[in-house]
Amino acid sequence: MSKYFSGRFSSLTPYVPGEQPRDMQYIKLNTNESPYPPAPAVAEAAAREAERLQLYSDPECLELRNLMAERYQVKPENVVFGNGSDEILDLAFQAFADEAHPLAFADITYGFYPVFAQKNRIPYTEIPLKNDFTIDPEDYRGFPGTIVLANPNAPTGINLPLSVLEPLIAENPERVVIVDEAYVDFGGESAIPMTKKYPNLLAVGTFSKSRSMAGGRLGFAIGNAALIADIETLRYSLNPYNVNRMTAAAGAAILKHDDYYMENCKKIMDTQAWTTQQLQMLGFQVLPSCTNFVFAGSDKLDGETLYRELKQRGILIRHFSLERIKNYNRITIGTPEQMETLIREIQKLLEVKV
Ligand SMILES: *Cc1c(COP(=O)(O)O)cnc(C)c1O
Repeated sequence: MSKYFSGRFSSLTPYVPGEQPRDMQYIKLNTNESPYPPAPAVAEAAAREAERLQLYSDPECLELRNLMAERYQVKPENVVFGNGSDEILDLAFQAFADEAHPLAFADITYGFYPVFAQKNRIPYTEIPLKNDFTIDPEDYRGFPGTIVLANPNAPTGINLPLSVLEPLIAENPERVVIVDEAYVDFGGESAIPMTKKYPNLLAVGTFSKSRSMAGGRLGFAIGNAALIADIETLRYSLNPYNVNRMTAAAGAAILKHDDYYMENCKKIMDTQAWTTQQLQMLGFQVLPSCTNFVFAGSDKLDGETLYRELKQRGILIRHFSLERIKNYNRITIGTPEQMETLIREIQKLLEVKV
């Protein structure tokens, strides 16, 4: 730290992204990326825009915004885009939480929530998941601030049915509920239609996972026009060009070929079911996942050892050292072939151990 660094941030612990080592070719199952490439038309749309990089991007993302509105049956003024949904979450935290309106989120959830809260000097409460790693909305009832829920949750993969979530939104019209739907396309139930009914509901989404765009950085929020306008005020106070030309064009092309991406989600969920079954046959406890990853642990092989041994064998998975989940690993679903290799390597490891 330099002596010039503002005291406001001297104790800030930044987010640690999943590792991206270059020492060898890994099977990458550690950052929940899609194993499938963009549709050819998407890469072409981005390449066409690359020839116009001398011009600023459209701050309103008009074409993309109109296509999104059509896809999700909302109006263009109900949509805002971000440089990944991480940016949207940061803006939403700033817009809807402060000293007087603290944040609440689960003790085990997306690691960026506490970072954004700390960076923006917003007090927060971490509410423990139940023993079975589910969220109990009862635990949030009466909380006097802004609630953030990842649904399905990460890294557990567990989905909270909308019927269970809805009362939490309905009973608290004075505070915003932010639902982070990064994984919803894989088998969750989106809260987007409910944004028409509840002016305090903000649904946040991303093209990173289900739409093979992690490297393109495109996230969004959908909600009541007044909530979206608040986020826009902050976005125009930071960077109106937050979505670059190539990404905006790619996003529009994706929505024109959305069937391809939704089919990929189905393929991934078939592979997920197979992987879950194989891991269970090897004695792993696997949480019920509605996402493109599984969260699994075994009494025969501790979490950290599994992570290290697989890395030596060229397979990356994500281990978290948090006490409650240190015996688990989050494993992204890759292609069927990649998952067969994973299962084969775990089998070999278990044979050596017993
Ligand atoms: C991946 C992820 C995000 C953010 O993804 P972006 O790439 O920034 O769009 C947000 N929330 C959760 C729970 C995630 O897993």
